[in-house]
Parts: sequence; structure tokens; C-alpha cells
Amino acid sequence: MNYCSQCGQQVTLKIPVDDNRERFVCDHCGYIHYQNPNNVCGAILTRGDRVLMCRRAIEPRYGLWTLPAGFMENNETVAEAAAREAMEEANAQAGPLTLFGIFSMPYISQVYLMFHGELASEEISPGQESLEVAMMSREQIPWDQLAFPVVEHSLKLYYEHGTDRVHHAWFSRDEQRRVQLHFID
Ligand SMILES: [Zn+2]
Repeated sequence: MNYCSQCGQQVTLKIPVDDNRERFVCDHCGYIHYQNPNNVCGAILTRGDRVLMCRRAIEPRYGLWTLPAGFMENNETVAEAAAREAMEEANAQAGPLTLFGIFSMPYISQVYLMFHGELASEEISPGQESLEVAMMSREQIPWDQLAFPVVEHSLKLYYEHGTDRVHHAWFSRDEQRRVQLHFID
């Protein structure tokens, strides 16, 4: 961040009075620009033994497969966000959603909230952000062409541990950008 969104003057990185970490502070108007993690909401939407998958038509990871997921918007609930993403990416109508997992990614300051639910209808089609969409069985999922580690881990958790409990984990990333999953409980 270079300029203050309140008054347009330059900001500087410093620890504000009564704070304990660096923030972008405007020396002109005094505004403190707090930056906090983003919530990403997504869903494993199923129909029998098949899962809704989307092939990305946008960067990053253009052409790779993902679960419907995206940044939460203001003024919506987490479940609404997940259902909205399914509609936007696959024109898919989600049935009632239950929380499947909470995954913290401190290295990119994101928190993923993944839901599970049945698709209300089998009618799906690619939204603007998808090249194609498909209902896939475990064997059909292109495991070597998944867009993000969280997609791979979510699908593995789904198939290996099911939906009886909420999966709570965090991800770390090493120098080689390899991502590892750590269970919290
Ligand atoms: Zn300012």
C-alpha cells in the first residue's frame, strides 16, 4: 500500500501508538489501514458418489480443476458465499450446506471455509469463471491437475474421512512452496 484511501496522501509502515505490530498509517490524516485475513468460502457439492468440479477459466491456475470457491463478499453469510460461488462458477443450485472444514493458511493470510451439501439439481453449466464443469466420481477426478492444495486436501478428507465431523487444520508452505496440512483436532 502506498497511498491513503481516505485522503490520497502517502502512507508509512509503522507501529501505531498502543499497537504491537506494523500498520500502514497515514501521516496526513492519521488513518490506520488495518489489513486482515480474507475468508474464502467453497463447497463440495455431491450427487450420489459424484462431486461437482470446475475447470478454471481465470488465472491463477487457468485450466486446472477446482471446487467452487471464492472470496466472501460483504453482507453475506459464509454459507451464502459458498452457494453463490457454486452458482457463479457452475450455475449449480446448492441444497442445504453443512460446514465441512476450516483451513487456516497463515502464509497467504487466508481462511478457507469449506461446506458440504447435495446439489439441488443436476443441471450444471460453466459460469464465466469456468471452462467446463463436471460431476466426477473419485476415479474421474484429475488428481494431478487440481488447482490448489486446499482442493486436493479437501477432496482427500472427504473421501477418506467423510463428513461426520468438521475438519479443522492449517496449512504451511516451505521454501519449495510445498504445502502441508496439519490437523488441529
Ligand atoms: Zn490519509
